[in-house]
Amino acid sequence: MIKTVDDFNYKDKKVLVRVDFNVPLDTAGKVTDNTRIVRAKATVEKIINDGGAVILMSHLGRPKGVDKQFSLAQIIPVLTETLGITPLFAADCIGKEAEEKAAQLQAGEVLLLENLRFHKAEKAGDVSFAKQLANLGDCYVNDAFGTAHRAHASTTIVAPFFEQQKAAGYLLANEIKAIGQVLEQGQKPILAVIGGAKISSKIGVIRNLIQKVDNIIIGGGMAYTFVKAQGGKIGDSLCEDDQMDLALAILEEAKANNTRIHLPVDTVVATHFDNDAERQIVPIGAIPDGWMGLDIGPKTQVGFAYVALANQTILWNGPMGVFEMTHFRNGTRELANAIADATENGAFSLVGGGDSVAAVELFGLANAVSYISTGGGALLEMLEGKTLPAIAALEN
Ligand code: AMP
Repeated sequence: MIKTVDDFNYKDKKVLVRVDFNVPLDTAGKVTDNTRIVRAKATVEKIINDGGAVILMSHLGRPKGVDKQFSLAQIIPVLTETLGITPLFAADCIGKEAEEKAAQLQAGEVLLLENLRFHKAEKAGDVSFAKQLANLGDCYVNDAFGTAHRAHASTTIVAPFFEQQKAAGYLLANEIKAIGQVLEQGQKPILAVIGGAKISSKIGVIRNLIQKVDNIIIGGGMAYTFVKAQGGKIGDSLCEDDQMDLALAILEEAKANNTRIHLPVDTVVATHFDNDAERQIVPIGAIPDGWMGLDIGPKTQVGFAYVALANQTILWNGPMGVFEMTHFRNGTRELANAIADATENGAFSLVGGGDSVAAVELFGLANAVSYISTGGGALLEMLEGKTLPAIAALEN
């Protein structure tokens, strides 16, 4: 069993909290989207309200060694504004300064440590580095779902140093709960909508979901591999020829499990990968040479919406087309609308993965779905049925 922060009272405790502050920055070092900081707020507030102190640690970007461009000092203004507390800052996550500032930290205060990835030892999962981090706090909280699939020092290796004093923060606990609400306790019928560019990156997910859900919609670029594998003409559409056998095997597996796979019946094709390219709508297996499918067509949009509305639990990962371009975004928008409608009718909907989340935000539907996951790779691994190392490390 994993404990959550609600199982503890942090009065007079110094709590080392792994957050995911890997936020986007502009060229001037300003945070352009504070969502990840906002979503860490509840856990920080709980500790402060208990009468504890918080030591925040995170990575930012992919620095190779110390690199000021990736300094977490840049997020201090937004962190201050979001938390309503001005954090202290240690210019290295381990060492004398961090130790002294942690030792002097008072109840109600927040100490932000510099980017963990300035040390190679973080990604390497180095035990002595993890121990130095562990020495800074009395208790450990992991609230970084986005990195929960990595056995890094701060996400996984650090946890055993805290024995019973370790917990999932609200964000991590909510992510686990929401995914459980689909995969374990999902009200039937359950629908998974899988889209995006490549079938190869989502094979494991589709295979696991076949065992768990009633319906799978496959859209986006990956659909064309299924179409070609079944003998359809896909013109210049995206296709992974080496995945065609696997696509056929998936269709067979689904049949054997009584899981219905829904593929597009028509598609918006274009002469180039360009918003202003010439375009037309054609049946799915009849794409002329020299044309490529960049969105699901109108008949498919209606069919997929109908499927969405007939399900009680919906998981959505991956766009239905090249939604970044206005002429190829209708399919993704109509699907998002259908999921919002189904949610309004009482379905539970979970949206995850950078592109699907960007899409619901673009269409102003972020509040119209039940849960938006912060995980990309971590979410996919959970959906593959894997146990994530950071979550396993919180078990007692
Ligand atoms: P993924 O990272 O695999 O989830 O794929 C997301 C990307 O797939 C987005 O950037 C979409 O633009 C792209 N995509 C979706 N449908 C298509 C398509 N039919 N052809 C090419 N790219 C697509």
